[in-house]
Amino acid sequence: MTHQTTCCYCGVGCGIVVNQEPNGRLTVEGDKQHPSNRGMLCSKGMNLHYTVMDQSDRLLYPQMRFNRSMPLQRVSWDAALERTAAVFKTFIQKYGPDSVAFYVSGQCLTEEYYLVNKLIKGFIGSNNIDTNSRLCMSSAVVGYKLSLGEDSVPVCYDDIEEADVFLVQGANPAWCHPILWRRIEAHKTANPHVKIICVDPRRTDTARSSDLHLPIRPGTDIVLNHAIGRLLIENGHIDHSFIVDHTDGFLAYRELVMQRSIDEAAELCGIDSEAIQTAANWIGRSKGFLSLWTMGLNQSVIGVNKNLSLINLHLITGRIGTPGNGPFSLTGQPNAMGGRETGGLANILPAHRDVMNAAHRAEVEAFWNSPVKIAAKPGLTATEMFEALADDRSGDASLKAIWIINTNPLVSMPDVNTAEKALKNARFVVVQDISNRADTVAFADVVLPAAAWLEKEGTMTNAERRIAYLPKVIDGPGETLPDSEILWRFAQKMGFGDAFKYTNCSEVYQEYAQLTAGTNVDVTGVTYELLRKNRTIQWPFQQHDKPITNNEYRIANSENRIPKTENRIPETGTKRLFTDHRFYTANQRAQIHAVPDGNTSEPTDEDFPLVLTTGRIRDQWHTMTKTGRVAKLGQHIPQPFLQIHPDDANVRGIEEGQLVVVQSRRGEVRVKAQLTDDVRPGLCFLPMHWGKILTNNQVRANNLTNSLVDPRSKEPDFKFSAVEVLPYQKP
Ligand code: SF4
Repeated sequence: MTHQTTCCYCGVGCGIVVNQEPNGRLTVEGDKQHPSNRGMLCSKGMNLHYTVMDQSDRLLYPQMRFNRSMPLQRVSWDAALERTAAVFKTFIQKYGPDSVAFYVSGQCLTEEYYLVNKLIKGFIGSNNIDTNSRLCMSSAVVGYKLSLGEDSVPVCYDDIEEADVFLVQGANPAWCHPILWRRIEAHKTANPHVKIICVDPRRTDTARSSDLHLPIRPGTDIVLNHAIGRLLIENGHIDHSFIVDHTDGFLAYRELVMQRSIDEAAELCGIDSEAIQTAANWIGRSKGFLSLWTMGLNQSVIGVNKNLSLINLHLITGRIGTPGNGPFSLTGQPNAMGGRETGGLANILPAHRDVMNAAHRAEVEAFWNSPVKIAAKPGLTATEMFEALADDRSGDASLKAIWIINTNPLVSMPDVNTAEKALKNARFVVVQDISNRADTVAFADVVLPAAAWLEKEGTMTNAERRIAYLPKVIDGPGETLPDSEILWRFAQKMGFGDAFKYTNCSEVYQEYAQLTAGTNVDVTGVTYELLRKNRTIQWPFQQHDKPITNNEYRIANSENRIPKTENRIPETGTKRLFTDHRFYTANQRAQIHAVPDGNTSEPTDEDFPLVLTTGRIRDQWHTMTKTGRVAKLGQHIPQPFLQIHPDDANVRGIEEGQLVVVQSRRGEVRVKAQLTDDVRPGLCFLPMHWGKILTNNQVRANNLTNSLVDPRSKEPDFKFSAVEVLPYQKP
């Protein structure tokens, strides 16, 4: 028997065919019909079935304890949920609704995101729900909103084959989005004139296969983008009529970028000015200019400004809304986008509504028939939640209880010792997860065993707004339940039963879809039935009496017979946004922002003279709670390591393979040194995957990172921490 589903690792959203043999054995292969991956899978996707078949570390039944010094004890679902509801009600009554919080994950399905938002925002009356996606893409959300009017990715993967210049900035898709990278490489092989520019302080595999690598100093992306902007203006490579007809802010931008010479910019970035000239020439002369970025821009104390400086290059050249052109923020997690759609951040409501907008709150309250007012202020963001718990003072209304769903903050949070203190301090911790590998279980008062990939149904949205249906293929082990069912059962224990009387996830999705009606993320035409038939649909996709078929659309489109005002799109949804160059801002014009180019990261000094950047390796995923179970994936890079430039190593007496201590103002890490000029002098790199249970806290990268965040996106500065590296001396 075969089942079509979607990979649950990264935001590429590859289609997978699961083969289920009569003896229950599972194998996976790439889905040749899927528009995103066309049959290809990367090493992680190819080995997904092992994560399902190895049940050795699964949480199998609910557990709880009344005192953290006691062991967790097996209890019934009713007992676990009734106790959790009783504790939540007590705190809410005594300290107010903001005394509880949910911390969720970009791996949650759309229905799960929707339910948890409805529960806390519409029924408990707090906006204290945030997601680990805050740690990876919230700067892109704000960047899109400020420039295009809404958090709306304008492009699609098919733009890859239409582009002739790629600007990959602060991303390593060769390792982190491998299937997209294969599409880019195949396109370049077939079209040798295609150019790839990679901007990264590290010489990654992406940089190695690019035509031009700009190894800028960490934190100087805006300086570089402004310099490219200046050259585009000076070389006459901007689109005057697009700027005049469809944007605001160009004059201030032009004045700003003209203030810094190209030589000065090159000096600040630590690269040759000729390289900047080359990049600007390629972009200026291109027919299709696609920029791709992830954490190098987003995970920064100036992440929003970095995003805006890159999007500006598309706005001044008019390279947006046409095939092969546009700014493309890739998502790191499989359903980061679905979380954004359903309001899974502390400052937003479903369908890109805003908690600060009274009309938006009223719409959602009325739709949900909420018994409480939706709070008129943003809730606590990811880092704020853990800081509030770490700083708990009895008697006030600060945070008391946290419910963590499918994420492992004791490895992934910046300045992770604060997160550890937070969970120690928390009066009540609920952990909902699939595996006892999650480091949070050690701090849990209640543990709720969740169904894993293939064990539950629902939907996810990938980086190109493509919604996919994931069927339930097998039963979960033990007493595991789908996350959606856990949430609606809990809501009933809280006394919100009438509004949470669901019998399946399709009902949840249909309710969410109705709440999107008339918005820019309208998915009223999407149903499970249609998703099963079409495989995927890109939003927006409104309800039609008779959706136009793909074939009809192709013929009509080629004959230019589809009026732009008529909402007739193919039955697989909307490929590109802003094709009419009308943006989602109030005046329908895109906004060019003249942003300052300075970096406000933690300063280096004599004690901590090096910059540490953290990131992923090819075959591991997040905190290794899934990939760590697949022996094959450990063969690529079995141990954590610190990349350091030979010049920096030599002056410290560090040799290849030697054990070193990396110290920051917050903690230390002990790993083996890898001497390489793949990193710039003054820069070190440490992978972020290894954590406490899998190894020990001595290799946990976030012992070192700092808690600085971008002031608007609240995304942490993972890519810039001041450190020192010393040879390890036995005590
Ligand atoms: Fe899965 Fe991403 Fe690999 Fe595709 S590229 S198989 S979605 S991990």
